[in-house]
Parts: sequence; C-alpha cells; structure tokens
Amino acid sequence: MPILGTFQKHIEELGFAMKLKRETMRQPARTLKPRNVSTKMAYAFLLLVTALGMSACGTENPAPQRIPKAVFIIVDGIPADVVERTATPNLDAISSVGGYTRAHVGGAIGEETESPTVSAVGYMSLITGTWSNKHNVRDNQVNDPDYRYWDIFRIAKSHDPALQTAIFSTWTDNRTKLLGDGKESAGGKKLDYAFDGFELDTDRFPHDEDGNYILDIDALVVDEAARYIGASGPDLSWVYLEHTDSIGHRYGDSQEQTDAVVQMDAQVGAIWASIQARQENHDEDWLLVVTTDHGRDAETGRDHGGQSERERTTWIVTNSDRLNANFKDLPAVVDILPSIATHLHLGIPGEIRDQLEGQSFID
Ligand SMILES: [Zn+2]
Repeated sequence: MPILGTFQKHIEELGFAMKLKRETMRQPARTLKPRNVSTKMAYAFLLLVTALGMSACGTENPAPQRIPKAVFIIVDGIPADVVERTATPNLDAISSVGGYTRAHVGGAIGEETESPTVSAVGYMSLITGTWSNKHNVRDNQVNDPDYRYWDIFRIAKSHDPALQTAIFSTWTDNRTKLLGDGKESAGGKKLDYAFDGFELDTDRFPHDEDGNYILDIDALVVDEAARYIGASGPDLSWVYLEHTDSIGHRYGDSQEQTDAVVQMDAQVGAIWASIQARQENHDEDWLLVVTTDHGRDAETGRDHGGQSERERTTWIVTNSDRLNANFKDLPAVVDILPSIATHLHLGIPGEIRDQLEGQSFID
C-alpha cells in the first residue's frame, strides 16, 4: 500500500490503535495507543510528517530495525532424556546461538491447572499460553475448545492484520480445531497459508500398519515449510511433525525411537537453513523455537498422558540470544507464547494478557 494511502487509512481509524507502517516502526501497539484527543492529534501530525518525509526523501529516515519473524516447531512426544542422548547436530547448531533447556508441561500437579500430558492439550497450551482449565482441551478429540483464550495467531492478527501467518502440519486438527481458523468465535481467518490435510488423503497416503505414511507426510510438510519460509518469510509460522510420537507408541524406548529423533533433527535443520538464508539476504530477525508436547512413561517409553516426571518433562531449543533467567528455570509450555509475542513486539489486549499463565523467557 502506498505510504500516503496507509496514512489516509490510519487517519480514518483515529481513535483506535494507531500503527505506523510496520516495516518502519515495529513497536508494541500499547505504546502507540493515543491516550486522549490531543495526543491523537499529535500522533496524526507526527504520522503526516513521517509519511510526507518518507515520500519526499526516504533516505533521510533512520535505518529501519530488522523485521522480527518467528517459527515454532512442535516435534511430537520426545522425552528430554532421549533428545539429550541422541546425536542432534542441527538442534545443537541452533542452541549454540541460543540455548537448550529442559521444560515442562502438565500444569501444577493436584491444582486447577493440572493438564493431561496429551498431544492436543500440549499444543493448545502452547498456542494459547494457558492450561487446560482455561483452553478446555483435555484430550485429542478437541470437542469444545474455549476460544476466549486467544491463540498466538489471533493475537498477531489483532495486533496487525498485515502480519503474514502460516501453518505446516501433519495433523489437520491443529488448524481446524485448535486454532479454529475461520471460525468467528475463534477470531475468524488467521492463517494466510496452510499446508496440511495429508493424513486425510488416504489415496495419496494409504495408512499402512507401520505408520510410514506419517513419516512421508512429515517429510512433505518439512519440504514445504523450508521452501515457503525461505521464499516468503512469513511473520509467524507453526510447523508440526508427528513421526517421533508414532514411533514412540509403536516401539517405546528403542533404536527406532532414536532413529526417528535423528530424522527429526535433519528435518529441523532444513528449516533452520531456510531461516539462516533469510537472515543473510533480508533485514530480518528470526526466532526459532523447537519443542515437544510431552515426554513418555518411564517404564516403556510407549505411553503418555499422566503426571509422572518423565511424561511432564519436555525441552526447548531456540536460537534466541536474548534469553533471560526464566529459560534455565524449567520453563513451561505456556511460556512460549509470551516469548514469541515479546520477539514479535506483539501488543496483547489487556484482558487476554491477564489470562496468560506463563512469562517470556526472552527479554
Ligand atoms: Zn504428542
């Protein structure tokens, strides 16, 4: 949109959150909210001067800050002890510029926030920053999610509808049920690009007994995530890979599980390579967060859902070099949303922020 067109649009929206063109000023919305009419007028004048200045002599403006971007990857059901004892050179490369930590899911045992260590419950806790007592996802059926607790994509689109969002997923319900994308009660359309639905396409991916179709779909999903992120640089993306959980249920603690983690590491590496290429060729500041949704039982490594330490213990790998003390203090899955919001400078409406259970591990 031309700058003056942007200006005119914003003038028409006076009284609402006023955002300068985001490439030139990506500050939290809350700092831009006019407090009264005279402040609004001052902002309008400032915006006019800025717009005219940019039109007349763009080179005289200060260099824009790097545009923040974020990708979070959930790799399913990998206990912390497994990822720690398996050779994962790509995760190591990412954590060498950021960090690795053990983390947890499951809420507080015996309290209101206690949440099953079940996949969809964990995903929903990540994307809403709340536990199951609030988001109301308590199993993989996802019958009645409570969309009053906004997900990170809704927060992003509320902050700035121009932010580009994407999902690459081996489980379609992440988009259709957990995010409720397109549902009015969940904030309407929030995803600009979706690459999923393949597990529902049994012609293309016949559901073989060994579950190899899941690995095939993961590979497809990763290829597209790496390609699309590299080509388009969406502002916020979610990648979900399932094979590691499928293998865990089948073989438990085993060489097969280790092999699946090695494959996962290579897949994450493909996305990390795309992110690095973006950072080399564009003025962008990328956050990558890789995590898992639950551990597995200590006895067999096949099951999960309970509150044992191994089931509750997860891990986080990130490239962020702005990690604070919370990162090393066994952060929770609900800390990821505030961390992404911090990196993207997202303004969160007060009533949504007040419901968040976590805190950012990024300053
Ligand atoms: Zn899972």
